[in-house]
Formats: sequence, C-alpha cells, structure tokens
Amino acid sequence: MKIIDSHMHCGIQNSDQPIELIRAYLDRAGIQGACLYPPVEDIYDRYNDRFEDNARWVACRQMANEYLLEIQGREPDIHAYYFVWNDFRKGELKKGYRGIKWHRHDCEPVYHYDDPGCEAFIEEAVRLRLPIVLEESFRNTLYFIKRIAGRTPIIIPHLGGLNGGFHALFEAHVWDGETVYADTALASTGEMEIFLKRYGSRKLLFGSDFPFGIPSSELSKVRHLGLKDEDFENIVNRNILRLIQQD
Ligand SMILES: [Zn+2]
Repeated sequence: MKIIDSHMHCGIQNSDQPIELIRAYLDRAGIQGACLYPPVEDIYDRYNDRFEDNARWVACRQMANEYLLEIQGREPDIHAYYFVWNDFRKGELKKGYRGIKWHRHDCEPVYHYDDPGCEAFIEEAVRLRLPIVLEESFRNTLYFIKRIAGRTPIIIPHLGGLNGGFHALFEAHVWDGETVYADTALASTGEMEIFLKRYGSRKLLFGSDFPFGIPSSELSKVRHLGLKDEDFENIVNRNILRLIQQD
C-alpha cells in the first residue's frame, strides 16, 4: 500500500519548494505519493488585505498551477491541485487537476463569492467531481459548506485548526455532512482521536502541510494513534485516492 501525503505545497517562484525537495522529504518518511498545492505566496499578495489583482499575479498564479500539472504528467503518484483566486478560471480545471485549493485567512484578501464567475467555477468543479480543500474564516467555512450542499467533496485542512479551530467546527457539526472531510496536518493526536470516535476513519486524510509540517513527523502522529490496519489504510491511502478518483 502506498502512503499519500494529501497536503503539500510545492512551487519555485516566490518560495523555494521544488519537486526535488518534496521527493527528498517523502523518501525520508517512506511516503510514496503526494497531493501538491501551489504556495499561497504564488497566488496573491497575502500580506495586503486590500489586494485585488494584476497581470503579474495572474501570470505567477498560472505558472504556479501549471508547474504542478507538469510534474503530475511525469511523476507517478503526484496529484496536482488547482489553487483558485478571483479570476475563477474554470477552463483550467479540465486540464487534469485532481483537486482544488481554496485558501484565505482573516486579514487576507477576500474571495468574491458574489461574482457570477465564482458560481460558474463551482459548477465546473462539481461537474468534474473535484474535491475542494477549503481553508477560510469560520464564518465563510460555514457559508461555503452550505453553498456547496454536498455537490462535491470539501476537505477542511488541519482538522479545522485554521478555519476557526477544531472544537468550534466540531461543535458546529460541519463534518456531519457525508461529503465533508478533514486532513490531519498540524492537528493534535487528541483532536484526531475525537474526530475518529465520532466519524470513523473514512473521512480523515493524512496530510503534512509541508513546509509548515514535516511529512515524517506528521505521519508518526497518525502511526501513534495505534489504529487497526484498515483504519490506518483509509487515512493514509484509500480515502484520498477515492476523493481524487484515482482508486
Ligand atoms: Zn497548506
């Protein structure tokens, strides 16, 4: 069974995380595959909450996404995610991306949810059944889950750690929906245990959020849960391959 890290950032423009570096970390951890997202730094100016967009950023974003698609084309077990921003380029999605990254923290520039292009983009994601990794404010997380309404899978990274906190999301029942998942990146083993007790192992994905987490240490947290083989395999392999339609 191959272990897949479902959450890694890879890019070579405004950060220095080339695929060769990613592979070195995976090899050291005994991990065979990964889902790769561009770094936020290649998508928009996250340090300017009034940032809109310009041609230079459009080009940077396009290159960041295409870099991953090109790696996916030549490396086994690498899965490219499209990182979306306010130009909502829905035409890109059918090029072979296996998921979508949607990311914003409080104090970072906002997504234009009312833009008709936003709904058109979502509809294309639904048509292609692409899972959406959603990192947003607590309020927008609830809003977005309601808006998607089960049409395509949603993955909340870090067990909600940066979407308002695990306990806030858990108490708001955001994972009750059959198509809402979580990844383990940077979460505590205690949070993982609470989640598994309520939802079982079919809705949790192993991820490291490299470079913010190190694949080997994030994986050892999951190993230390002492799970049955079947549950461990769901978390590190089967769930993600099912979601990205590679099973
Ligand atoms: Zn991340």
